[in-house]
Amino acid sequence: MENEGGCVCGAVRFGATGEALRVTICHCNWCQRRTGSAFGIEVVYREDQVSVSGDTVSTYRHVSDESGRWLDVAFCGRCGSNLGFTLEAAPGIRTLPAGAFDDPSQFSPERQEFRHVYIRSRRDWSDLSDNVAVYEQHFRD
Ligand SMILES: [Zn+2]
Ligand SMILES: [Zn+2]
Repeated sequence: MENEGGCVCGAVRFGATGEALRVTICHCNWCQRRTGSAFGIEVVYREDQVSVSGDTVSTYRHVSDESGRWLDVAFCGRCGSNLGFTLEAAPGIRTLPAGAFDDPSQFSPERQEFRHVYIRSRRDWSDLSDNVAVYEQHFRD
């Protein structure tokens, strides 16, 4: 079974096969800035589960001032939509943004493991749901 999605302009499409490893809702300042929202929501897969097609895919390498490690963000060079990322801290992992799937309702704490991370920088107007585990920073720390 393949779950499909894509950017808002339609130039880039992606697919993910099999079950997601987890869903991470990240409240760090960097995710707030990159999304322009209160948090980022990334569905985490192994790289070999994910395929991306379209000739407008661009990437930006961000290096964390805190950890010094890189994170390669994919986005549509035409419309700017987030298309997930790969990260040095978790080799072999590829995320896809939950809201960019054609059917985001398939992601639910009843079906996948959900985690709120970096809640130390959570906005106080961005409430946490009771049914998701919460971490001050990352769960790997
Ligand atoms: Zn696009
Ligand atoms: Zn983050």
